[in-house]
Amino acid sequence: ASEEWELDMEDLILGGELGSGQFGRVFEGLWHGEKVAVKTIREEAMSEEEFKEEAKVMMKVSHPKLVRLYGMCTQQSPMYLVFEFLENGCLTEFLRSRKGCVSQETQLGMCVDVSEAMAYLESSNFIHRDLAARNCLVSGDLVVKVSDFGMTRFVLDDQYTSYTSKFPVKWSSPEVIRYNKFSSKSDVWSFGVLMWEVYSEGRLPYDCRSNAEVVESLNAGLRLSKPRLCPEPVYQLMQWCWKEKPEDRPSFLLLLHELASLADH
Ligand code: ADP
Repeated sequence: ASEEWELDMEDLILGGELGSGQFGRVFEGLWHGEKVAVKTIREEAMSEEEFKEEAKVMMKVSHPKLVRLYGMCTQQSPMYLVFEFLENGCLTEFLRSRKGCVSQETQLGMCVDVSEAMAYLESSNFIHRDLAARNCLVSGDLVVKVSDFGMTRFVLDDQYTSYTSKFPVKWSSPEVIRYNKFSSKSDVWSFGVLMWEVYSEGRLPYDCRSNAEVVESLNAGLRLSKPRLCPEPVYQLMQWCWKEKPEDRPSFLLLLHELASLADH
């Protein structure tokens, strides 16, 4: 293991299974005495060679509100990705399991956390491509961190990459749905939907509608309505994120400033 991102298997102790993801099973583990999450990558689930190149980039993007990738073990199959461990798991599940218990202050704090991570990615010219509450994790002290950045590019399942059942239409901007045109501004659209998820306590957006119906209503100019628990100024930011033209949407830097100033009041 000469490469800097290659971790020694012998330093890794695998524990119980945490869940199952896009690429394979996820385990908790210990690495140099630190709790970690280990993602195993099924060979047929990912284009490995391309991914290994990109993982070097992913290890360089480092921010306190991004889930850290410590490194990987690529010498065996399935290969392992070793991540920072977050005690409270997936944000969607967290919101659903604590309905009625998450204060408005915490909800706003969660949006600020994600906007900090995204402002950093934006300034690094790194597009997430699949920002959603299911791709965020919650720490023991309720800090939300963004995970799985850039990973969809390596999914080999064509159900996910084409516009079929697994494509995240409900988080996608019109230009992504129409032309596959990803940018930081398409991430901003997704962030608006993520804020909606936070204030809706983990509900599925447009829960009674099929993907085709969602596309139709977006084309007609309709948008998600204000969650009951959402303050008006936060809903205005969501609507700003859902402007038809990418250039009419705010940057993450601006969103971060707006959200942080709401949090100060
Ligand atoms: P994928 O994004 O590849 O589909 P997930 O990230 O959803 O896989 O992982 C499956 C489950 O494993 C999650 O729902 C979460 O509960 C758990 N998990 C994943 N990463 C971590 C982590 N870093 N810390 C704690 N739990 C995690």
